[in-house]
Amino acid sequence: MQSLGIFGGTFDPVHFGHLNPVRETASALGLEQVRFVPAANPPHRSEPVANTHDRLAMIRLALKDYPEFRIDERELNRTGSSYTINTLESFRAQFGDNLPIMMLVGADVFNEFNTWHQWQQIPDLAHIIVMTRPGYPVVDASFFENPNWKISKNVNDLHSQPQGLVFFQDVTPINISATKIRSLLEKKMTADTGLSQALPPSVIEYIKLNNLYVNHSQEH
Ligand code: ATP
Repeated sequence: MQSLGIFGGTFDPVHFGHLNPVRETASALGLEQVRFVPAANPPHRSEPVANTHDRLAMIRLALKDYPEFRIDERELNRTGSSYTINTLESFRAQFGDNLPIMMLVGADVFNEFNTWHQWQQIPDLAHIIVMTRPGYPVVDASFFENPNWKISKNVNDLHSQPQGLVFFQDVTPINISATKIRSLLEKKMTADTGLSQALPPSVIEYIKLNNLYVNHSQEH
């Protein structure tokens, strides 16, 4: 393998706002493989609404149409908080120091990057690829003064060094969030409310079959 993409999230549930931007980014950056890394116990937010089994099942169904994407369960197999720094250390231990590893995040996540556990060390382990997301303009990155990273505008740079660069990737805007999807489902608004534009049909089917997200008060 020449390069690896990593895409973490709660995926509660996985949706086209994950799948499409990541596919575009993988193609723009020449990433052979992107691993979706579902979080077990995200330190920054409340517990996921769907349980781990269901979140995993939905990702599995969604990724069937995306051969370049894989599920990586390492955070689910760890006890305690899923800190990204530990996940990246684990990828480095597995793939060695020379493989370019690119961590994909939406602009909303990047804007809060400096609240993450040991965030200053993250560029020592991976590149950070920031994907545009509607409603979340990227803050001036100089805000995160950090001698460990450098902004790059050249895709080749991402392949000629294993980590340390921040790269901004414009993607087709998709105004979808898992919160919005859960709220639609909770209100039992089904047929015409845009669900089919938000999620793969197999995931919608799974949600309905298992009655997910129906009787939960929304946490956000
Ligand atoms: P929630 O609404 O529950 O907070 P979410 O839709 O933001 O969920 P997450 O699983 O929390 O989804 O996000 C995983 C990653 O996907 C994050 O890096 C986030 O920025 C990115 N992401 C989610 N939705 C979009 C979108 N519509 N466009 C671009 N990136 C997105």
